[in-house]
Amino acid sequence: MFMKKTWLKLIPIFLIVMTLPVLVLNPKTNPAGLFVTKEAIVENKVEKIIEENNDKTLQNKSEVEDKFIYLEFLKENTIYSHFVNKETGEDTDFSYFIRPEKKEEFESKVQELIYLKYPKFIADILVKAETSRTYQIKENALVIYFYDVLIEPQIHDTLSLTINYNEIKECLDFTFLLDQEYTNEDGYNYLKNKKTVALTFDDGPNDAKTNKIVELLEQNKAHATFFMVGNKMQYGSSTIQNVLAKGNEIGSHSYNHANMKRQKLAKLKENEEKTKEIYRNITGQELIYTRPPYGSINSKIREGLDTIFITWNLDTEDWLHRDKDYIVNYVMENVSDGDIILMHDSYDSTVEAVEELLPKLYAEGYQVVSVSELANIKERTLEKNTIYRSLKKSQ
Ligand SMILES: [Zn+2]
Repeated sequence: MFMKKTWLKLIPIFLIVMTLPVLVLNPKTNPAGLFVTKEAIVENKVEKIIEENNDKTLQNKSEVEDKFIYLEFLKENTIYSHFVNKETGEDTDFSYFIRPEKKEEFESKVQELIYLKYPKFIADILVKAETSRTYQIKENALVIYFYDVLIEPQIHDTLSLTINYNEIKECLDFTFLLDQEYTNEDGYNYLKNKKTVALTFDDGPNDAKTNKIVELLEQNKAHATFFMVGNKMQYGSSTIQNVLAKGNEIGSHSYNHANMKRQKLAKLKENEEKTKEIYRNITGQELIYTRPPYGSINSKIREGLDTIFITWNLDTEDWLHRDKDYIVNYVMENVSDGDIILMHDSYDSTVEAVEELLPKLYAEGYQVVSVSELANIKERTLEKNTIYRSLKKSQ
């Protein structure tokens, strides 16, 4: 009995003696963490994460105020990021550092910018709640990567969104650098180093079909040139306005769709002027391109009409086949950089083909644009009294 009591009495003394050095060495002892400091917990966590990612390259390890320690690893073009909470030592999600009352605002800004950058068929998937994100902290921007996303047709490039901090400065619970100037990623900013084709539609305006094609172009960050028939224009003025409002362009497809070779030059000139005037009255703009019906032209017409002639080098024969799959396959098998593609906004099968074709061309790395945009991208100056069948970069 006596031995046992003495031993019990010694326990508190033993504990004090054992903990003294710890208390002395760690003046900021956290009662919740017993005798281990907050800093030590955080540091342990950081080391553990680095150890767990030793098959990757540590690209960035930085402290963001008293908020978190940011760790960024890279392996085979994939970013892996961690945000270690400096209060708790937890490996938290980035969303922890978005102000709770601003989470909705942050999310709607992300969605807005996704739709600004990507075609609808991609953006619709990226904005889904179940699509996982990797957040990368840069000095002046937040980058979101979307890995392992299933999109049809399959996209080969990495899907990502760069958000300048100016766009979300109210939403984040830490300080960052604010640029004086910046531009958001915009799918309509066509690039000179990408494969590009011009899509063209003849024989409109055909209100419902033309407008549906305009909508599909818009959903895919694409533009086209519509070659319209003069005597149809006055019945489609609101369609014409809509085509232009969405960034597309319009050219002349003659006044009455007659074969130009079978007409007197004087009559042709008169009809071209009539078409230009109708167009001018609707839009206040000038027509600068002409596409002769059937592509039928000779040197007399070329010299005689005061216009730039645009024909095509890829003919889908959509008027003949009236078959969506044929049109899509024909284009995908034959398309190349600098092509001018011919279609007609007159058939449902063409509208269906455009709907399928635009995502496929995008997935294969093509930008789809108007003739003027293609000329600009290929650094070609288009001259009057000249016929252009395609617009490849000049050597
Ligand atoms: Zn035609």
